[in-house]
Amino acid sequence: MSKFWSPFVKALVPYVPGEQPKLTNLVKLNTNENPYGPSPKALAAMQAELNDNLRLYPDPNGERLKRAVADYYHVRPEQVFVGNGSDEVLAHVFHGLFQHGKPLLFPDVTYSFYPVYCGLYGIDYETIALDDRFQIEVADYVRPNGGIIFPNPNAPTGCLLALEAIEQLLQANPDSVVVVDEAYIDFGGESAIALVDRYPNLLATQTLSKSRSLAGLRVGLAVGHPDLIEALERIKNSFNSYPLDRIAIAGAAAAFEDRAYFEHTCQQVIASREAVTVAMQALGFEVLPSAANFIFARHPQRDAAALAAGLREHGVIVRHFKLGRIEQFLRISIGAPEQNQALLDALKRIV
Ligand code: PMP
Repeated sequence: MSKFWSPFVKALVPYVPGEQPKLTNLVKLNTNENPYGPSPKALAAMQAELNDNLRLYPDPNGERLKRAVADYYHVRPEQVFVGNGSDEVLAHVFHGLFQHGKPLLFPDVTYSFYPVYCGLYGIDYETIALDDRFQIEVADYVRPNGGIIFPNPNAPTGCLLALEAIEQLLQANPDSVVVVDEAYIDFGGESAIALVDRYPNLLATQTLSKSRSLAGLRVGLAVGHPDLIEALERIKNSFNSYPLDRIAIAGAAAAFEDRAYFEHTCQQVIASREAVTVAMQALGFEVLPSAANFIFARHPQRDAAALAAGLREHGVIVRHFKLGRIEQFLRISIGAPEQNQALLDALKRIV
């Protein structure tokens, strides 16, 4: 704190990102990165940019990437927005699309960046309790609101909301923007992008950090009605007209185009998730059904903070949130088979 800070900054409570440890010998299962690395075609496309084009400014509109996303989802490029990680895309969404005067609605267990953006942009919000199976109850979102946002699958629970339920939510809220944060949608969910042509109030956001293994590149996107996209472009162009650099545009577009590599690696993660789930259940853990690249689990007889500390002593780091209802859970990213085995071996010794 300094006397030079504005009152606004003094009151700001920023998001605390997951730990990125300096030690490289840890089994890192704490921030939901993909163990398989990006598509080789994406790496080659980025290398080509590096060799030939960094002297030049990037395309401020990221056209090549928008086209790749539009082709993949059978939408038009003007229905696509791209930004520097989905965190930045979400920042623009909060800034540009939620109405002040009525509260934004989101679940009480959810991505902890949402209340931070509310603080940043002065948005009132109400959190709505998940049911006892950690599921979103659509009926609870039928009330006056200035927008609705939730991750699907939810974070950090991994629980999936069916597309039919999302459709009910959209129909019940025709005057609100409904944002579905699909950071983890490719590990078993069905994208709400299939609904954007029917619902002008729907926006789906995605990231290339998880299923396309490009967390280090920082690329995210949103798909929705062109009017919603135009709002995001206005905000972006008032902030940084080049949110994506040349390497990011080339690598992200090539990653979207390489469907075979993407599908293969997603399948591997899903298969490992199912195997880890069964093995942890055999150790006495209760594991929530996950459609993400992580699992959310608790042991009825063990304290979660102590388990996380014990795992760390065995060189395995996982995420523990000190938050009321989820305090007894661990969020564990699915890693490569040898990392998952190291996790299970450590858990066997601890429990
Ligand atoms: N949404 C959710 C639900 C997330 O868990 C994350 C990852 N922390 C993000 C968005 C942001 O992802 P990124 O900024 O890497 O695109």
